[in-house]
Amino acid sequence: MNKSSELLPCPFCGCNETGIQKGYFGHAIPACTNCGASLPLCKNAELAAARWNTRAEVYIAHPITGEPMDKSQCKRVITQMADQIKYLKEQLGIVHRGAKTLTQMSIVEGTHEKT
Ligand SMILES: [Zn+2]
Repeated sequence: MNKSSELLPCPFCGCNETGIQKGYFGHAIPACTNCGASLPLCKNAELAAARWNTRAEVYIAHPITGEPMDKSQCKRVITQMADQIKYLKEQLGIVHRGAKTLTQMSIVEGTHEKT
């Protein structure tokens, strides 16, 4: 491996054990020696470093705004969504129970009609 300082930390394990492995005919492979993450063979070390350092960032987008979120924002949004789902389930339960009650009432009164 060449100088690890030219590559950004590994996006998978976060360590700085990254470097460029030499391939045949001057080709190069940017890789992490800690977890084994690597990119396909590149023409030279410069290109290998550029590809490793300019890969797309991975993030979770906000479900409504589409903005990238950090971990604390993710946790907050997930909690809000869980609360919302719980609320909707409760509302659905009330509507369901209401509909059942209405059906039972109309059967008892003899007004229930089949369509
Ligand atoms: Zn790694």
